[in-house]
Amino acid sequence: MNNRMATETSKTEVGSYFVANYPPFSQWRPELVAEAETAMRSPPRDVPLGLYIHIPFCRKRCKFCYFKVFTEKNAGEIEGYVSALAREMELVSRLPVMGQRPFRFVYFGGGTPSFLSAKQLTSLVDRLRQNVKWDDAEEVTFECEPGTLSQPKLMTIRELGVTRLSLGVENFSDDVLRENGRAHLSAEIFRAWEWIQAAAFPNINIDLIAGMVGETEANWRENIRRTLELSPDSVTIYQLELPYNTVYSRDILGHQTEVTVADWPTKRAWVNLAFDEFLAAGYHVSSAYTLVKDPARVNFSYRDNLWMGSDLLATGIASFGHISGVHYQNLPEWKPYISTLLDENRLPLGRALRPTPHQLLVREMILQLKRGYLDAGYFRQKFNVDILDHWRPQWDGHASEGLLSVAGDRIELTRQGLLRADALLAAFFEPEHRGVRYT
Ligand code: SF4
Repeated sequence: MNNRMATETSKTEVGSYFVANYPPFSQWRPELVAEAETAMRSPPRDVPLGLYIHIPFCRKRCKFCYFKVFTEKNAGEIEGYVSALAREMELVSRLPVMGQRPFRFVYFGGGTPSFLSAKQLTSLVDRLRQNVKWDDAEEVTFECEPGTLSQPKLMTIRELGVTRLSLGVENFSDDVLRENGRAHLSAEIFRAWEWIQAAAFPNINIDLIAGMVGETEANWRENIRRTLELSPDSVTIYQLELPYNTVYSRDILGHQTEVTVADWPTKRAWVNLAFDEFLAAGYHVSSAYTLVKDPARVNFSYRDNLWMGSDLLATGIASFGHISGVHYQNLPEWKPYISTLLDENRLPLGRALRPTPHQLLVREMILQLKRGYLDAGYFRQKFNVDILDHWRPQWDGHASEGLLSVAGDRIELTRQGLLRADALLAAFFEPEHRGVRYT
C-alpha cells in the first residue's frame, strides 16, 4: 500500500484522509516485532482490555474499499481460516499480558463478519470460547452487510452475546450501490431491518457514506430521510476518500479514468445537512462521524476505550492491536498468516512500533479530538504536559479559522471543525510524520 495523507484541496484526490492511529502505519516495522512480543510477555497494565476479531471475507469488493478482504475463498479455505483464528485465540489466552483481566469490549470487524454462515459462526465462537470468555464485556459489536443476513443468522448472532449490531447500509439508492460495487441492494436492507429488530439487539447502528460515486444532493436527502425512518440507535457517517489501493484509485491513476467523487466542500455540506436533520430529530453528536439517539443509553466502549489508550488484542489476518504501549499488526497475507499459526504454532505478528511517550500523547490527543472536544486537564494529569501551551500555534491557527474554540481547559470543535476533523490532525504530528506515507 502506498497511501499518503491527502492534502486538503477541494477536489477529492487519491490519498488517505482518515486518521486511525499515530505514528502513521508506514512507520511500523517487521524488525520491531520483538517489541510487541516483549510487551505480550510482560505483566498486564491497569487499563481496560479489548479484543478485535477480524473476519476478512466479503461477497464482492466495493470499489472504494481499502481493507484486506477476500471474495473468492471456498468453504474449505474459510474453515482453515477459522481454525487458524481459534489457534490464535488459544495462544493469545496464554499471554502473560492478559493477566486476569476480563475483556471490557469485543469487536467482530472485517471484511464482513456476517459473511460467515450461522453454522460457521457458531463453530467459530464455540472454539474461541474454549479459551476466552466475553460474558462480562460491556459491549460486543458485530459488523453486518445487509445481503448476508437471514433471520436465523441474526438470532445466532444475538445468542453469541452481541450487544451492538452495525449495519453497513452506506446508501439506499440501488443505482449508487451498484455503481460503487456494493454487494447489497436496498431491498435487502429493509428485509434485514425487520429481522434485526425482531432479534432485539440493545444497540443498532447504521453506517452511511457521504459522497459515493453517483451521489446527488436529492439522493443524499433521501438517505437521511430513510435512515431517520428506520430510527437506529446511532448513525455513523463517513466521507468517501480514495486511498491508493481502491479500485477507483487504480482506475484514476492507471487508466486516467474520470471517477466523479464529490469534492470535499460538497461532502462536508452533505454531512452538515445530515447533522442538522438528525439533531432536529432528537439525536446528539457523539463524534465527528457519529450521532446517537439516547446518549444516556448508547455508549461506544470500543471507540472510547481505544481512544483513551486501552489495550487491544488483535486477532485475524492483518488486524491492528495495541498492547502495553506497543502498536502491532498481524501478517497481512493469507498463507503466512495461516501457516505461522497452524504449522509453527506461534503468533502471526507482522510489524510493530513502540511509540515514544510523546507519540502516545499525540495519539490520544488526536483520537480524542475526533470526539469533538478535549479536556486539557486529562492530558496534564496523564502525560504531565499542558497541551494548550505545547501546541499553542496550532490551537490559535485552528481557532482563527473558526474550527475550534478554547475555554479554560476545554477545547471544542465547532461544527466546521467536526466536519473536517481528520484534516486538522496532521498539524499535531511530529514534523517527520507530516507528509509521509500513512499506511
Ligand atoms: S463490505 Fe466493507 S470490507 Fe467488504 S469490500 Fe465493501 S467496504 Fe470493503
